[in-house]
Amino acid sequence: MKVAFFSAKSFDRKSFTAANVNYQHELTFFEGQLNPNTAVLAADFPVVCMFVNDIANATTLEILAAQGTRLLALRCAGYNTVDLQRAAELGIKVVRVPAYSPYAVAEHAAALVLTLNRKIYKAYNRVRDDNFSLEGLLGFDLHGCTVGVVGTGKIGMIFAEIMKGFGCYLLGYDAYPNNGFTAIDNARYVSLPELLANSDIISLHCPLLPETHHLINANTIAQMKPGTMLINTSRGALIDTAAAIEGIKSGKIGYLGIDVYEQEDEIFFQDLSDTVILDDTFQLLQSFQNVVITAHQAFFTRNALEAIATTTLANISDFAEGQPLKNEVVYQPLA
Ligand code: NAD
Repeated sequence: MKVAFFSAKSFDRKSFTAANVNYQHELTFFEGQLNPNTAVLAADFPVVCMFVNDIANATTLEILAAQGTRLLALRCAGYNTVDLQRAAELGIKVVRVPAYSPYAVAEHAAALVLTLNRKIYKAYNRVRDDNFSLEGLLGFDLHGCTVGVVGTGKIGMIFAEIMKGFGCYLLGYDAYPNNGFTAIDNARYVSLPELLANSDIISLHCPLLPETHHLINANTIAQMKPGTMLINTSRGALIDTAAAIEGIKSGKIGYLGIDVYEQEDEIFFQDLSDTVILDDTFQLLQSFQNVVITAHQAFFTRNALEAIATTTLANISDFAEGQPLKNEVVYQPLA
């Protein structure tokens, strides 16, 4: 099938071109983001392939539908930038990659924990500068800490197992608890307020939904222990960034590690080193010594890229052949 591929990076071209040997779709790569202004590029493409910061709002979808697009193939798990209701009304099917490497994201969350705790980001630069002082590099043992896992699905479960390996106690909060979590040694489900009040480290692994938007806000931050480490590898808008900044200033948040940021679509996945970033909130966040930001790279392992390409191309083949769409995202109206 003819596939218009948006937000294409060199690594996308490489992994999809390699995997496409087995699928033989006609891939056209566009570097630009999918949005109402660029949707016109997909004229006569029955399939559009998009990533996390492409915008498939009602306007984009209406343009795509009028031009003949019938399938939106997300090469990611989250679908919060797709207007599913409008897609359903327009007859555009939506498929995604529900799991590619949950290990990639969970391991990155653990990397943020270690980087912040042991101040690896400072130590690396210091030693390169021939400064071998230990002042300001003091960490704490993870062994014996209490880790709160918000969202105990595929990624949250692996993160919990990793932290168990360090000898941590685990508190879980999930709208739909699963027995797998309580089967882990030293793990139990609690209410969100209990998790907030008792965790030394809190890691977010739930999807961005209307009910999880700004789950971390002034009120929930106030319930945390002083000096809590907060990790977000899920979606930026789970955290009210302005409230997090106040939390850092007050000391409630002692460490912040984020791979996602609420307004990241204007910043991430591009080299802006020659420009002035106009997002004051982001610049302020960056300026704190106890904040580590990575640019939505948690998924970015060789294994994950191979799995993303294979599943996306298989989803497109299923559609082309009229097979059931096992990875379809079906619009479910609120009851
Ligand atoms: P998953 O569906 O397996 O797990 C999500 C869990 O969140 C489920 O257990 C679900 O019951 C729970 N949940 C749903 N609503 C909730 C609520 N209101 N409160 C608390 N928990 C709730 O998903 P996953 O594969 O583990 O992925 C988790 C998230 O990670 C995705 O939604 C995505 O946003 C993010 N993600 C980020 C990257 C990255 O590169 N940074 C990559 C992949 C996924």
